[in-house]
Amino acid sequence: MSYPGPHFDSTPPRRRPRARTVALAALVPGALLGWLVYEAVGAPGSGTDGAAARPSSTAAASPTGSTDPASPSATAGDDAKKPGAPSPASGSGPLKGKTVVVDPGHNPENVRHTAEINSKVDIGTNWKECDTTGTSTDAGYAEARFTLDVARRLRTLLEEQGATVRFTQDGDRPWGPCVDERARIGNDAHADAAISIHADGAPAGDRGFHVILPASVHSGSADTRPIVAASADLGERIAGTFVRVTGSAPANYVGDGTGLDTRKDLGGLNLSTVPKVFIECGNMRDSKDAALLTSSGWRQKAAQGISEGIVSFLHGS
Ligand code: ZN
Repeated sequence: MSYPGPHFDSTPPRRRPRARTVALAALVPGALLGWLVYEAVGAPGSGTDGAAARPSSTAAASPTGSTDPASPSATAGDDAKKPGAPSPASGSGPLKGKTVVVDPGHNPENVRHTAEINSKVDIGTNWKECDTTGTSTDAGYAEARFTLDVARRLRTLLEEQGATVRFTQDGDRPWGPCVDERARIGNDAHADAAISIHADGAPAGDRGFHVILPASVHSGSADTRPIVAASADLGERIAGTFVRVTGSAPANYVGDGTGLDTRKDLGGLNLSTVPKVFIECGNMRDSKDAALLTSSGWRQKAAQGISEGIVSFLHGS
């Protein structure tokens, strides 16, 4: 998840009956064709109702929920591998010459470095925690493990297409990096596309995935205006291919059934100068979604869905 405890965007929860959700999805041009096809052949039941809250409220109560403090200066000189180092296998294929930065959300070790990750960094619009622990399933499968696993699968798929793939972290550093550094790694790599991988921590009954797009922000060190349109294109393509490959429905608790949400409170997006989106692959706190997220077969599909969206974006640009 991408919502540290007390500093989430307080957009009111929105829920729609399933029929309304699908109708709204149909209004999104091009983005969710796969979803419409999926609907036509029949989706497994995922009806839920009742009050929804933004995921942060659950995270605060979870055993591995958000915590707060960290020191960005401490990122220098640690024993981590250089996060921007290019992956070894790349160089031929349709994405030859393209660079994709993959940001596995959080870090499995953040939970042991709360002081560091709770320090504040400047995200342009305000100051925010360096990083968060992320959420977990009720059984304890950590979001940070999920994000690394999907990211590694995604790297393999993109490299098969010839892309150069760089990670912001690969389970090779003691904590973090901070969200501003996560953005900087993509910027410094002059990435053609960047994606931050997450899973959400919303209340049980909230299901499905959503892609988070950068809002137009021009404040302090943040200026997303040059990347808003390209990021929306990237995100819409990923939403469409994710639906088609995984069969998962767009989130029923955010985005009005489009599988898309736009935010201005995420440092990883605010500070990006390259096309970038986040994806919340599902809700770890919902038992049905958790069954998917903990399945290696499903995670491969998730990586495939994301990869196809990125490939489509890079071919179309
Ligand atoms: Zn997350």
